[in-house]
Amino acid sequence: MEDAIKRAADLLERSRKIVAFTGAGVSTESGIPDFRSPGGIWEKHELVYYQDFIESGEARRKYWLRSRATYPVFRDASPNQTHLALVELEKMGKLNCIVTQNIDRLHHKAGNLPEKVIEIHGNNAFAVCLNCQRMYPREEIQKLLEENYKIEVPHCRECKGFLKDATISFGQSMPEEEMNEAMRRSQACDLMLTLGSSLVVYPAAYLPRYAHEAGAKLIIINMTVTPLDHLADVVIHGKTGEVLRLIVKEVKKRISG
Ligand code: NAD
Repeated sequence: MEDAIKRAADLLERSRKIVAFTGAGVSTESGIPDFRSPGGIWEKHELVYYQDFIESGEARRKYWLRSRATYPVFRDASPNQTHLALVELEKMGKLNCIVTQNIDRLHHKAGNLPEKVIEIHGNNAFAVCLNCQRMYPREEIQKLLEENYKIEVPHCRECKGFLKDATISFGQSMPEEEMNEAMRRSQACDLMLTLGSSLVVYPAAYLPRYAHEAGAKLIIINMTVTPLDHLADVVIHGKTGEVLRLIVKEVKKRISG
Protein backbone atom coordinates (compact mmCIF):
# COMPACT_ATOMS: atom_id res chain seq x y z
CA MET A 1 0.00 0.00 0.00
CA GLU A 2 2.79 2.44 0.96
CA ASP A 3 4.51 1.96 -2.39
CA ALA A 4 1.23 2.43 -4.31
CA ILE A 5 0.56 5.66 -2.38
CA LYS A 6 4.00 6.99 -3.34
CA ARG A 7 3.46 6.06 -7.01
CA ALA A 8 0.05 7.75 -6.96
CA ALA A 9 1.61 10.83 -5.33
CA ASP A 10 4.26 10.90 -8.11
CA LEU A 11 1.50 11.02 -10.73
CA LEU A 12 -0.48 13.72 -8.90
CA GLU A 13 2.64 15.81 -8.39
CA ARG A 14 3.34 15.80 -12.13
CA SER A 15 -0.27 16.44 -13.20
CA ARG A 16 -1.87 19.81 -13.93
CA LYS A 17 -5.28 18.82 -15.31
CA ILE A 18 -6.73 16.14 -13.07
CA VAL A 19 -10.25 14.85 -13.60
CA ALA A 20 -11.66 13.09 -10.54
CA PHE A 21 -14.36 10.59 -11.45
CA THR A 22 -16.41 9.75 -8.37
CA GLY A 23 -18.97 7.04 -7.63
CA ALA A 24 -21.22 6.05 -4.75
CA GLY A 25 -18.20 4.57 -2.88
CA VAL A 26 -16.86 8.04 -2.02
CA SER A 27 -19.98 8.77 0.02
CA THR A 28 -20.29 5.56 2.04
CA GLU A 29 -17.94 7.08 4.63
CA SER A 30 -20.53 9.89 4.94
CA GLY A 31 -23.19 7.32 5.82
CA ILE A 32 -24.83 7.05 2.38
CA PRO A 33 -24.77 3.38 1.37
CA ASP A 34 -23.89 2.46 -2.22
CA PHE A 35 -26.23 0.23 -4.23
CA ARG A 36 -23.87 -2.62 -4.94
CA SER A 37 -22.56 -3.49 -1.46
CA PRO A 38 -24.92 -5.83 0.44
CA GLY A 39 -27.35 -4.55 3.10
CA GLY A 40 -28.59 -1.02 3.65
CA ILE A 41 -31.58 1.13 2.91
CA TRP A 42 -31.77 0.42 -0.82
CA GLU A 43 -32.72 -3.22 -0.38
CA LYS A 44 -35.81 -2.23 1.60
CA HIS A 45 -37.33 -0.42 -1.38
CA GLU A 46 -37.84 -1.67 -4.89
CA LEU A 47 -35.94 0.14 -7.67
CA VAL A 48 -38.25 1.82 -10.19
CA TYR A 49 -37.17 2.08 -13.83
CA TYR A 50 -37.87 5.30 -15.71
CA GLN A 51 -40.27 3.77 -18.26
CA ASP A 52 -42.35 2.20 -15.47
CA PHE A 53 -42.49 5.57 -13.68
CA ILE A 54 -43.93 7.15 -16.85
CA GLU A 55 -46.40 4.36 -17.56
CA SER A 56 -47.68 3.19 -14.19
CA GLY A 57 -49.35 4.92 -11.26
CA GLU A 58 -48.29 2.05 -8.99
CA ALA A 59 -44.63 2.51 -10.04
CA ARG A 60 -44.85 6.27 -9.30
CA ARG A 61 -46.26 5.48 -5.87
CA LYS A 62 -43.40 3.03 -5.15
CA TYR A 63 -40.86 5.56 -6.44
CA TRP A 64 -42.03 8.29 -4.09
CA LEU A 65 -42.29 5.90 -1.12
CA ARG A 66 -38.60 5.13 -1.62
CA SER A 67 -37.60 8.73 -2.29
CA ARG A 68 -39.49 10.01 0.76
CA ALA A 69 -37.68 7.43 2.95
CA THR A 70 -34.17 7.88 1.53
CA TYR A 71 -34.00 11.64 0.88
CA PRO A 72 -33.26 12.56 4.55
CA VAL A 73 -30.16 10.29 4.46
CA PHE A 74 -28.77 12.38 1.58
CA ARG A 75 -29.91 15.73 3.00
CA ASP A 76 -28.34 15.13 6.41
CA ALA A 77 -24.99 13.72 5.20
CA SER A 78 -21.75 15.68 5.57
CA PRO A 79 -18.65 15.53 3.34
CA ASN A 80 -15.89 13.12 4.38
CA GLN A 81 -12.12 12.92 3.87
CA THR A 82 -12.44 12.11 0.16
CA HIS A 83 -14.50 15.21 -0.54
CA LEU A 84 -12.13 17.35 1.53
CA ALA A 85 -9.05 15.96 -0.24
CA LEU A 86 -10.59 16.95 -3.59
CA VAL A 87 -11.07 20.50 -2.27
CA GLU A 88 -7.32 20.47 -1.40
CA LEU A 89 -6.50 19.41 -4.97
CA GLU A 90 -8.61 22.30 -6.29
CA LYS A 91 -6.77 24.74 -4.00
CA MET A 92 -3.44 23.41 -5.32
CA GLY A 93 -4.62 24.35 -8.83
CA LYS A 94 -4.42 20.74 -10.01
CA LEU A 95 -8.09 19.86 -10.36
CA ASN A 96 -9.66 20.42 -13.76
CA CYS A 97 -13.04 19.10 -12.65
CA ILE A 98 -14.93 16.40 -10.79
CA VAL A 99 -17.23 14.21 -12.87
CA THR A 100 -19.58 12.64 -10.39
CA GLN A 101 -22.14 9.87 -10.67
CA ASN A 102 -23.37 10.85 -7.23
CA ILE A 103 -26.59 12.69 -6.65
CA ASP A 104 -25.80 13.74 -3.08
CA ARG A 105 -24.22 17.19 -3.67
CA LEU A 106 -21.41 16.39 -1.19
CA HIS A 107 -18.73 17.85 -3.50
CA HIS A 108 -20.64 21.16 -3.41
CA LYS A 109 -21.11 20.92 0.36
CA ALA A 110 -17.36 20.27 0.81
CA GLY A 111 -16.54 23.52 -0.98
CA ASN A 112 -15.50 22.65 -4.52
CA LEU A 113 -16.57 25.43 -6.90
CA PRO A 114 -19.92 24.50 -8.52
CA GLU A 115 -18.41 25.02 -12.00
CA LYS A 116 -15.83 22.36 -11.16
CA VAL A 117 -18.49 19.70 -10.53
CA ILE A 118 -20.19 17.93 -13.44
CA GLU A 119 -23.15 15.83 -12.29
CA ILE A 120 -23.86 13.18 -14.90
CA HIS A 121 -26.64 11.48 -12.92
CA GLY A 122 -28.30 14.74 -11.80
CA ASN A 123 -28.86 15.52 -8.10
CA ASN A 124 -31.57 15.11 -5.53
CA ALA A 125 -31.51 18.64 -4.16
CA PHE A 126 -34.32 19.31 -6.64
CA ALA A 127 -37.42 17.67 -8.05
CA VAL A 128 -38.39 18.35 -11.64
CA CYS A 129 -41.73 18.37 -13.47
CA LEU A 130 -41.42 15.86 -16.30
CA ASN A 131 -43.95 17.86 -18.33
CA CYS A 132 -42.89 21.55 -18.08
CA GLN A 133 -39.38 21.03 -16.55
CA ARG A 134 -40.12 23.39 -13.66
CA MET A 135 -37.72 22.74 -10.77
CA TYR A 136 -38.73 22.55 -7.10
CA PRO A 137 -36.38 22.47 -4.10
CA ARG A 138 -36.56 18.85 -2.96
CA GLU A 139 -36.89 19.97 0.65
CA GLU A 140 -40.16 21.73 -0.21
CA ILE A 141 -41.54 18.50 -1.68
CA GLN A 142 -40.35 16.50 1.35
CA LYS A 143 -42.25 18.83 3.68
CA LEU A 144 -45.38 18.47 1.54
CA LEU A 145 -45.14 14.66 1.64
CA GLU A 146 -44.40 14.49 5.36
CA GLU A 147 -47.17 16.91 6.30
CA ASN A 148 -49.77 15.19 4.17
CA TYR A 149 -49.49 11.40 3.98
CA LYS A 150 -52.44 11.31 1.56
CA ILE A 151 -50.19 12.77 -1.14
CA GLU A 152 -48.43 9.70 -2.48
CA VAL A 153 -47.20 11.25 -5.73
CA PRO A 154 -46.49 15.00 -5.94
CA HIS A 155 -47.56 16.97 -9.02
CA CYS A 156 -46.43 20.24 -10.57
CA ARG A 157 -48.28 23.28 -9.23
CA GLU A 158 -48.26 24.90 -12.67
CA CYS A 159 -49.21 22.15 -15.11
CA LYS A 160 -50.08 19.14 -12.89
CA GLY A 161 -47.33 17.05 -14.56
CA PHE A 162 -45.56 14.30 -12.58
CA LEU A 163 -42.70 15.37 -10.34
CA LYS A 164 -39.59 13.18 -10.08
CA ASP A 165 -36.26 13.75 -8.35
CA ALA A 166 -33.89 15.62 -10.68
CA THR A 167 -31.75 12.50 -10.91
CA ILE A 168 -31.17 10.09 -13.78
CA SER A 169 -33.12 6.92 -13.09
CA PHE A 170 -32.18 3.53 -14.51
CA GLY A 171 -33.48 3.49 -18.09
CA GLN A 172 -33.55 7.30 -18.41
CA SER A 173 -31.32 9.02 -20.97
CA MET A 174 -28.19 10.78 -19.75
CA PRO A 175 -28.10 14.60 -19.70
CA GLU A 176 -26.52 15.47 -23.04
CA GLU A 177 -24.72 18.67 -22.09
CA GLU A 178 -23.11 17.22 -18.93
CA MET A 179 -22.15 13.99 -20.69
CA ASN A 180 -20.51 15.83 -23.61
CA GLU A 181 -18.61 18.09 -21.23
CA ALA A 182 -17.51 15.09 -19.14
CA MET A 183 -16.30 13.31 -22.27
CA ARG A 184 -14.41 16.39 -23.49
CA ARG A 185 -12.70 16.90 -20.10
CA SER A 186 -11.86 13.18 -19.80
CA GLN A 187 -10.16 13.21 -23.20
CA ALA A 188 -8.18 16.37 -22.33
CA CYS A 189 -7.00 15.54 -18.80
CA ASP A 190 -3.49 14.40 -17.92
CA LEU A 191 -4.64 12.21 -15.01
CA MET A 192 -7.94 10.55 -14.25
CA LEU A 193 -8.48 9.74 -10.61
CA THR A 194 -11.27 7.17 -10.33
CA LEU A 195 -12.69 7.01 -6.82
CA GLY A 196 -15.29 4.68 -5.29
CA SER A 197 -16.83 3.48 -8.52
CA SER A 198 -17.48 -0.12 -9.54
CA LEU A 199 -17.02 0.99 -13.19
CA VAL A 200 -19.84 -1.26 -14.33
CA VAL A 201 -22.51 1.43 -14.82
CA TYR A 202 -22.49 2.57 -18.47
CA PRO A 203 -22.17 4.99 -20.20
CA ALA A 204 -20.43 6.62 -17.19
CA ALA A 205 -17.76 3.90 -17.06
CA TYR A 206 -16.62 4.79 -20.59
CA LEU A 207 -15.03 7.98 -19.23
CA PRO A 208 -11.91 6.39 -17.64
CA ARG A 209 -11.47 4.38 -20.85
CA TYR A 210 -11.60 7.57 -22.96
CA ALA A 211 -9.07 9.24 -20.67
CA HIS A 212 -6.73 6.25 -20.90
CA GLU A 213 -7.08 6.01 -24.70
CA ALA A 214 -6.29 9.74 -25.02
CA GLY A 215 -3.02 9.22 -23.14
CA ALA A 216 -3.92 10.25 -19.58
CA LYS A 217 -2.57 8.39 -16.57
CA LEU A 218 -5.18 6.44 -14.64
CA ILE A 219 -5.43 5.84 -10.90
CA ILE A 220 -8.23 3.62 -9.59
CA ILE A 221 -9.08 3.61 -5.89
CA ASN A 222 -11.95 1.31 -4.97
CA MET A 223 -12.72 -1.16 -2.23
CA THR A 224 -13.31 -3.99 -4.71
CA VAL A 225 -11.84 -5.06 -8.05
CA THR A 226 -13.09 -3.19 -11.15
CA PRO A 227 -13.14 -4.32 -14.80
CA LEU A 228 -10.71 -1.48 -15.69
CA ASP A 229 -8.03 -2.27 -13.09
CA HIS A 230 -5.78 -3.73 -15.82
CA LEU A 231 -5.68 -0.36 -17.63
CA ALA A 232 -4.62 1.64 -14.57
CA ASP A 233 -1.14 2.92 -13.75
CA VAL A 234 -1.92 2.58 -10.04
CA VAL A 235 -4.71 0.52 -8.45
CA ILE A 236 -5.42 0.67 -4.73
CA HIS A 237 -8.09 -1.49 -3.13
CA GLY A 238 -9.09 0.37 0.02
CA LYS A 239 -11.30 3.10 1.40
CA THR A 240 -11.07 6.27 -0.72
CA GLY A 241 -11.15 8.56 2.34
CA GLU A 242 -8.11 7.00 4.00
CA VAL A 243 -6.17 6.42 0.79
CA LEU A 244 -6.74 9.81 -0.86
CA ARG A 245 -5.93 11.66 2.35
CA LEU A 246 -2.52 9.94 2.47
CA ILE A 247 -1.82 10.62 -1.21
CA VAL A 248 -2.74 14.32 -1.00
CA LYS A 249 -0.75 14.69 2.24
CA GLU A 250 2.32 13.25 0.47
CA VAL A 251 1.86 15.60 -2.52
CA LYS A 252 1.50 18.64 -0.21
CA LYS A 253 4.64 17.64 1.69
CA ARG A 254 6.64 17.42 -1.54
CA ILE A 255 5.30 20.73 -2.94
CA SER A 256 5.99 22.65 0.27
CA GLY A 257 9.51 21.50 0.38
P1 NAD B 1 -21.05 2.05 -8.10
O1 NAD B 1 -21.40 1.11 -9.18
O2 NAD B 1 -20.11 3.12 -8.47
O3 NAD B 1 -20.46 1.17 -6.86
C1 NAD B 1 -19.84 1.73 -5.74
C2 NAD B 1 -18.45 1.11 -5.55
O4 NAD B 1 -17.81 1.73 -4.43
C3 NAD B 1 -18.45 -0.41 -5.24
O5 NAD B 1 -17.56 -1.05 -6.14
C4 NAD B 1 -17.91 -0.52 -3.78
O6 NAD B 1 -17.09 -1.64 -3.59
C5 NAD B 1 -17.12 0.76 -3.66
N1 NAD B 1 -16.99 1.32 -2.30
C6 NAD B 1 -17.92 1.38 -1.32
N2 NAD B 1 -17.43 2.07 -0.25
C7 NAD B 1 -16.16 2.43 -0.58
C8 NAD B 1 -15.13 3.15 0.10
N3 NAD B 1 -15.30 3.65 1.33
N4 NAD B 1 -13.96 3.33 -0.54
C9 NAD B 1 -13.74 2.80 -1.77
N5 NAD B 1 -14.68 2.13 -2.47
C10 NAD B 1 -15.88 1.94 -1.88
O7 NAD B 1 -22.32 2.72 -7.55
P2 NAD B 1 -23.68 2.04 -7.11
O8 NAD B 1 -23.65 1.94 -5.66
O9 NAD B 1 -23.95 0.82 -7.90
O10 NAD B 1 -24.74 3.14 -7.56
C11 NAD B 1 -25.16 3.27 -8.91
C12 NAD B 1 -25.65 4.69 -9.13
O11 NAD B 1 -26.64 5.02 -8.17
C13 NAD B 1 -24.57 5.73 -8.92
O12 NAD B 1 -23.83 5.91 -10.07
C14 NAD B 1 -25.39 6.94 -8.49
O13 NAD B 1 -25.93 7.61 -9.59
C15 NAD B 1 -26.50 6.35 -7.67
N6 NAD B 1 -26.16 6.37 -6.21
C16 NAD B 1 -25.69 7.53 -5.69
C17 NAD B 1 -25.33 7.59 -4.36
C18 NAD B 1 -24.80 8.92 -3.85
O14 NAD B 1 -25.09 9.96 -4.46
N7 NAD B 1 -24.05 8.93 -2.76
C19 NAD B 1 -25.45 6.47 -3.54
C20 NAD B 1 -25.94 5.27 -4.10
C21 NAD B 1 -26.29 5.23 -5.46
